[in-house]
Amino acid sequence: MPSADPIASISWPLDGQNSMSQNALFQEMALTALFGHSQESLAQIIEKTGQPAYRATQLWEALYQQRVETLDDITALPKSFRDELKQAGYAVGLPHIQQTFHSVDGTERYLIQLADGQTVETVWMPGGDGGELGDGTEAGDEEEDEELAANDSIENCYKRATICVSSQVGCAVNCQFCFTAKLGLTRNLTAGEIAGQVAVVLNRHRVQIGRDRINLVFMGMGEPFLNYRNFMDAIRLLVKGIGIPEPRMTVSTSGIVPAILEFAREPIRPKLAISLNAPNNRIRQEVMPITKKWNVEILLSAVRQVPLRPRERVTFEYVLLGGVNDGRAHASQLAGLMAIPGLPLKVNLIVWNPGPGTEYRTPEPHVARAFQQRLRESCVPAYIRRPRGLDIYAACGQLKRTLVQIDGAAASAS
Ligand code: SF4
Repeated sequence: MPSADPIASISWPLDGQNSMSQNALFQEMALTALFGHSQESLAQIIEKTGQPAYRATQLWEALYQQRVETLDDITALPKSFRDELKQAGYAVGLPHIQQTFHSVDGTERYLIQLADGQTVETVWMPGGDGGELGDGTEAGDEEEDEELAANDSIENCYKRATICVSSQVGCAVNCQFCFTAKLGLTRNLTAGEIAGQVAVVLNRHRVQIGRDRINLVFMGMGEPFLNYRNFMDAIRLLVKGIGIPEPRMTVSTSGIVPAILEFAREPIRPKLAISLNAPNNRIRQEVMPITKKWNVEILLSAVRQVPLRPRERVTFEYVLLGGVNDGRAHASQLAGLMAIPGLPLKVNLIVWNPGPGTEYRTPEPHVARAFQQRLRESCVPAYIRRPRGLDIYAACGQLKRTLVQIDGAAASAS
């Protein structure tokens, strides 16, 4: 259960936030897992074994480009050296998919087990995440879709898919509309555990990077910016190792301002999404208590510091909660907030996905459409997100329902 005021315990910088005993435990576990090490760190491991330096490159390519699952799969390395690594306690160390839930819409939700037995959830959405219903795709995607369709048969190629990735076991941020929040925070994921979720899902779907177009959204369990260093290490592994371009990645934050300012200085970084969910500080404090720490004005001023790539836009996510933040006056107020000179942006409207144990209600479709219309009247690009995997509790804000009772779900697990 979350503590009475989890927000009060959030500090910056994050070093020392976790207890020493927890850090020591996971450092020890991480020693055995090769997946998660950077190229430099692998080179140090190889150097200690007395093997030639090029073995580090072979190991790096096997772990991240070939996405091997066991040391025996690394046939570029001599068997004697693989045995030596095993005897020294090393393994590839990818997390594994413990359970899969299949939605009628093709979405799959995975319960992914980590080395210490903790679990997180990861979601595969074929055809994208439906994030921009209305104009459909990001700039440039249409051309690539046509090219892929011409060159590949649909049976053999996922021409487009999005993977939703978790960054923590649970979450401390306590957004009132989110089921993950009800778990509180158990621990941060390591870089290997974050990138490892992607690797196991890519392997399950036999994805070929370079042929298939994969988008990543860091919108699963946890606040990525409260696990900032591990999260950014994972991004570098995914970009430099696995080969997914960072403009195909989007990280969503509840608004951890010091981390946004640090993110603004990163040479390699995903696109930014802000989970806003309210048109003013009063409502945002109610639904997202993090606002007491960094209010909307401070948050928007930090967002303006992030340099954008050509054609990039910052996404503002807005969960529509019936009777709370979904009125015409709220839409007008939000339009005013979004009039930020020089900042290309869009608003993704997410109709709240229901569940037991909460008093929020889902707005009627016409209310969501009117809200969108009001924003568009003010020239704010606004899209209603199509929920994915509702029947398996894979939609926004629903993760970590697996271990909570799933009553009456149409999901099938394997
Ligand atoms: S919405 Fe995101 S940041 Fe907020 S409690 Fe849920 S997982 Fe944490």
